[in-house]
Amino acid sequence: MKILVINCGSSSLKYQIIDMENEGVLAKGICERIGINGSKLTHEAEGKDKLVVEKEMPDHKVAIKMVMDALVDAEYGVIKDVSEITAVGHRVLHAGTVYSDSIVVTEDVKNVVRDCFDLGPLHNPANLMGIEACEDAIPGVPNVAVFDTAFGMKMPEKAAMYAIPQEYYEKYSIRRYGFHGTSHSYVSQEALKFCELDPENGKVIVCHLGNGASITASIGGKCVDTSMGFTPLEGLIMGTRSGDIDPAVVQFICNKEGKSVNEVIDILNKKSGILGMSGGISSDFRDVQKAQAEGNHLADVAIEAFIYRVAKYIGAYTAAMNGVDAIVFTAGVGENDKPIRGAVCEYLGYLGVDIDGETNKLRGKRVMISTPESKVKVCVIPTNEELSIARQTKALI
Ligand code: AMP
Repeated sequence: MKILVINCGSSSLKYQIIDMENEGVLAKGICERIGINGSKLTHEAEGKDKLVVEKEMPDHKVAIKMVMDALVDAEYGVIKDVSEITAVGHRVLHAGTVYSDSIVVTEDVKNVVRDCFDLGPLHNPANLMGIEACEDAIPGVPNVAVFDTAFGMKMPEKAAMYAIPQEYYEKYSIRRYGFHGTSHSYVSQEALKFCELDPENGKVIVCHLGNGASITASIGGKCVDTSMGFTPLEGLIMGTRSGDIDPAVVQFICNKEGKSVNEVIDILNKKSGILGMSGGISSDFRDVQKAQAEGNHLADVAIEAFIYRVAKYIGAYTAAMNGVDAIVFTAGVGENDKPIRGAVCEYLGYLGVDIDGETNKLRGKRVMISTPESKVKVCVIPTNEELSIARQTKALI
């Protein structure tokens, strides 16, 4: 069984085709600058040369057609005919309050994705285009929607609801949703196995630390709380996003600078986080750490604040679950950045966390970084959203 996984952004489309017999990636690639001048497809298949096609892609439909052509290409392809694709799994950002699980796409499902355009304005329209393009390109092949909000939809109401008038939830579905759900779901399930925890009751905190960063608490793989909220702006400090902030700051900046609310929210999304705190050095942690090492004070504060907030959330989520069995690091920073992992764990001595300095040196590998004496297991599990989407797609069809 071969499953195609599609992840459409507003101007990009990432794909992987996975052989579910051994969960191996047969080919993967990306279409960039869709709808913008200079579109390009980059396709890589196991044991073959890289294929780069520079050709205009006015929309996602054209991009999907080019992906199909690459997959069946005599020289660079991995299948003889598109009929070898059993199903397509799509990453879809938002399902509002309607779906808390992945689902086979029907007209009703597409209507829900469409109804959620204003909850996910950058992603949901592109996600729907991806689905419709696949329906056209390979008619009859089932499409499955895997929602990024699904994991967070299972958290209890006390964690999901904002303390604002109830009418706004009723009218506009304003609640906490959480994002990176596919990653958190995959990593928390893998952690239960890797740390040999009770599959029903194991208490896991997953720190997904990348350019976007979020943290979740789950018991037996079921979400208890998540740091992102109504949008991916809430929670941890990120590459360019502020994370938690007193909303009165928005009003204050608007009044002082004559900016609109939209403009200030844009600043909180795109110009804040470690980029903003460091005085504009970079949104990339490596750049800011380099400046920190060279003695730049703002860079130091930005990195220390990032670490501090992760540690605070771990403390809060330990309380939320009345304990924690495993803490897991994943995504770009979580998988690679040993000083940040080590510094977060230094805050966790009160939990009996004890880190092995040697295993914590490893990068990008599934590894236990706590010592056998540590009261809480701490590990690194590289995230794999594509495999998670493919597994969920297989399960549904
Ligand atoms: P992501 O959004 O998951 O791709 O993560 C991107 C972030 O991961 C960037 O800010 C990078 O600084 C960080 N990152 C990626 N690779 C490494 C690495 N080898 N060492 C340290 N940080 C890394």
